[in-house]
Amino acid sequence: MSMFENGSFAGRRDWLRAPPPSGFVPHIRPQSSPESSPPFTAVIKDSRLPHKPADTSRRLRERTPEQLVTMVRETGYYDLLGVSPTASPEEIKKAYRKLALKYHPDKNPSEGERFKTISQAYEVLSDAKKRDLYDQGGEQAIKEGGIGGGSSPMDIFNMFFGGGGQMHRERRGKNVVHQLSVTLEEMYNGATRKLGLQKNVICEKCDGYGGKKGTLEKCSTCKGRGVQVRVQQIGPGMIQQIQSMCSDCQGQGEKFSSKDRCKNCNGHKVERKRKILEVHIDKGMKDSQKITFHGEGDQEPGLEPGDVVIVLDQKDHPVFQRQGDDLIMKQKLKLVEALCGFKKTIQTLDNRTLIINSEPGEIIKHNDVKCVQKEGMPIYKDPYEKGQLIIQFEVEFPEKHWLPEHLMFQLERLLPPREDVMITDDMEEVDLMEVEDENQQRHYSREAYEEDDESPRSGVQCQTQ
Ligand SMILES: [Zn+2]
Ligand SMILES: [Zn+2]
Repeated sequence: MSMFENGSFAGRRDWLRAPPPSGFVPHIRPQSSPESSPPFTAVIKDSRLPHKPADTSRRLRERTPEQLVTMVRETGYYDLLGVSPTASPEEIKKAYRKLALKYHPDKNPSEGERFKTISQAYEVLSDAKKRDLYDQGGEQAIKEGGIGGGSSPMDIFNMFFGGGGQMHRERRGKNVVHQLSVTLEEMYNGATRKLGLQKNVICEKCDGYGGKKGTLEKCSTCKGRGVQVRVQQIGPGMIQQIQSMCSDCQGQGEKFSSKDRCKNCNGHKVERKRKILEVHIDKGMKDSQKITFHGEGDQEPGLEPGDVVIVLDQKDHPVFQRQGDDLIMKQKLKLVEALCGFKKTIQTLDNRTLIINSEPGEIIKHNDVKCVQKEGMPIYKDPYEKGQLIIQFEVEFPEKHWLPEHLMFQLERLLPPREDVMITDDMEEVDLMEVEDENQQRHYSREAYEEDDESPRSGVQCQTQ
């Protein structure tokens, strides 16, 4: 966590240049002595001094300014959505979609606060300008800019899932959104899935009246007002009136006496029933695509029922990744296949087997990309058209010592000739080592230093090798 705190401070570079504006209270304190946190002070020095300090570490020098900002900024909103600070707008959308559905008050009434914070994070990160501001100055900058918390969590949710615009049709029940996990195969071939839902339907026994007709009486608890008023003393001479819905009549002001109440729905006018929806996944449908069942939402007397909206959520596939209508896959090749030609098979999403080969004399390099036309995803509503299958080749080199030393020259004879290097006396021969993490390197060099002091032990090590 201290990484983030440091980061937020270092990321706000102008904070260092100019005195903070009055009233500005940083929620994160900078370190008292800049020299005490080497990586971050190095960043700041690097960006402001005309000359780079000689001891700046290699790792920092190789980073671009963008990467430095990425490394040091505040990431709270990204953490809330469970995405990395480099996430694409699509990834942010997907993360919000999953979390908003999971923590929506309809499904998770106890997680209201979580639903709110997720919405706030999404509101900022889904807007390029706000996201930029957040990346530069964190949550503080958003608050100072006066652009945080502009919309209610429910507005954001409705805007996202298209359930909004209900202002002008208040006589409609609300939409219910469900997420449906589907495989790439189902999106390729099309599929029908049965989804069992619990929903409120008008009680059959009483036709949504709630009891015997003509027996409705004024609620005695609230005297027909539908609300109860409670008075609470909150300080000396101060009282607070708290109004709440009458629980006896559910705010209706009227109720049935127990003998007249409908036994089937207990006077609630609706009953909970299980309903099976058949969801047709058409060929070429995409992740986050919505399928709407009009009027299948909860029923309520006097209200037109809302819709059930199914949002598709594509599961990851072990072989193929989808990019629009294209499919992308990785294909490993042995070195011999890359140099001397290959023949490979690919299992398609509809279980056909494709054979791919190299052209005679062709060489495939590591990371080369090729494609097969019309073997990508079917186009939605035009399923005879298909995207492309994009194949990224990964060439596997043999392990060291795969070929006995005395056979090397035979291989060398067959390969394109090497370029000789002219060696002169003034050149310096150095050791070539594996590149390691900076911390590890420091660790090793210290270890080596310590071992030098204990010469007997290093002597033993030499012997065993
Ligand atoms: Zn009442
Ligand atoms: Zn009933």
